[in-house]
Parts: sequence; structure tokens; C-alpha cells
Amino acid sequence: MASRGGVDLGGTKIQTVIVDDDDQVIGSSRRPTPTEGGPQDVADAIADALREAAAEAKVVPADLEGVGVGSPGKVDDDAGTVAGAKNLPDWDGVYDLRAALNAALGVPIRLGNDVQVATDAEFELGAGREHPSILGVFWGTGVGGGIVLDGKPWTGRDAAGEIGHIVINQGGARCSCGRRGCLEAYAGRASMEARARRHHERGEPTVLFEIMEQRGRERLTSGVWARALAAGDKMAEEMLDRAVAALGAGIASAQNLLDVEAVIIGGGLGVRMGEPFVERIREAMMPHLFNDGRPPVVALAALGDPGGAIGASLLARAPR
Ligand SMILES: [Zn+2]
Repeated sequence: MASRGGVDLGGTKIQTVIVDDDDQVIGSSRRPTPTEGGPQDVADAIADALREAAAEAKVVPADLEGVGVGSPGKVDDDAGTVAGAKNLPDWDGVYDLRAALNAALGVPIRLGNDVQVATDAEFELGAGREHPSILGVFWGTGVGGGIVLDGKPWTGRDAAGEIGHIVINQGGARCSCGRRGCLEAYAGRASMEARARRHHERGEPTVLFEIMEQRGRERLTSGVWARALAAGDKMAEEMLDRAVAALGAGIASAQNLLDVEAVIIGGGLGVRMGEPFVERIREAMMPHLFNDGRPPVVALAALGDPGGAIGASLLARAPR
């Protein structure tokens, strides 16, 4: 029996899985992404995380058929490199991630875009598996998108799926990309946190930052938002309402262009907020849908947090 490894390399965490022939997870591990050092330190952390998952699966890394890595930044699987991964430490340039992981693990390494592999996983194994064409929306620190059309991933010239930078408000809020009015500027967790901090500093009441400290966090994680909402925090409610409205407009605009069968909502916030928010996003899309008599299925990502790593493991399948 051949097993494979999958790695979801994120700005905050490295999630790894070992899967068997049937794509079932038989081992996993999760650790924080190094915030200091550089690409080599991140590669070392990936190798360690993978060894840990392999130990749980009772295999040795050298016996794996291969390891797939879903990475942010500009990913070039032919060259084996990742460039300009801004959320990773000192990773502005081009780094040969394949060579580094190859040296550490001694197995074939395949690279893919983090959001696209998560979409591919939902398409093959998760909430999208009944549908020929899907749009994956990953609502987390930013808002990422992945597209599968007629069974094939659509990556454009490398930069397709950037649903977070669909303009929902001309001249609107400043986005992390430097432009204005992008969906991500309203719905991304990082933008929501920056806005919450500004309002908090102005003296507006909120329990968001108390909860953050109680939980020993330095950021307003998805869990912090969920707890504040459960406590009836007005600021959290207002900002999540604003995010849902923005997601409704942005996703409906993408749907007007693509007309896919299903929209899959994943990402840290998406998974954490769950079905009630999927329903709210579905409703928020309706006023903006041109073909409102026949809306797409809008479903929660079925594979949860390990979905990105499971998707990455699909990259490591032997060509058929
Ligand atoms: Zn933007």
C-alpha cells in the first residue's frame, strides 16, 4: 500500500497529513509557521511536521510515494520554486523548496497553489464532488478563491481565482494589496482586525481584545471572533455583518461571470463560523445574482481545516 504526504503551508500554521491509497487520513500534525529566520527554517519545520505525521501513520517518510505542498506566493512546480510568499519570513525572493524538502525527506516533491489545491480537494473528495464546476471561497486572514471548470482547475496565467480582490465598492476601504474597495478589505480577518483595533482605540466597547488575551492569542483568530459573537458583542456582530454583505456581493459577482453549479465556503473563518454563516452568505448573494431564479448550491467545505493538506497530497499521486 502506497501512502502520500500533503502539506498546507500557511502564514500562521503548517498542517500536514499522510493519506492512504483511498485518500483517507492516517496521520496528521500541525504546528505554527516560523515567524523568524527564512525559507530554510520554514522548510525544516515542514520536514519535521511531516516526520511527525508519518510517525503517527506508522510509515517512514522515505517510503512515501511522494509529498505535495500547497503554498502561498508564486508557485512554479516545473522549477520546484516558490517566490514572493509575503506572509512567510524573509521569503520575498525565489526559493527552491523542492530541493530543500527533497534533501530532508528523500521523496518526490510536488508543489501547488494553496487555495487551488484546497479547491481541488473539495472538488474530488468534499462538498463539490457531485458538481462538474465549482468556485471555492476560502474566508480567512484574506479571502482566497479557487476555480474548477468542467472538471479542470482554472488557474489562468497563474493568478486566477483572486476573488478577494474583486471590487465591491469603488473608492472604498483600503485593501492589503494597496488598492481600494476589494472584497478582502471588508471580509478578510486581517482587515477586520485592523478595523476593530481602530474602533477599540477610539473607545468603542468590545470584548474582542479581552477574549484574545484570555485565550493567549496575539491576533483576533477565528475562534476569538466566534466567542465574541456568542457573547453578543456588538462590534463583532457589526463587523461580521459587514463581512457577510461583502462576501454576498463578491461571490454573486463571480457567479454572474462563471455560473458554476456550486460555491464551496471554506477557510479558517468559514469553517469556524460554519453552516449558519453559509446560510447568511447564501442570502446575502441573492440580491446580486443576475440569474436569481436558479442560484448555485452554496455549501460548507466538507474536509474542514485539513482540506488544504489533503488537496496537496493529491498532487503527489503517480501520473495515471
Ligand atoms: Zn485587494
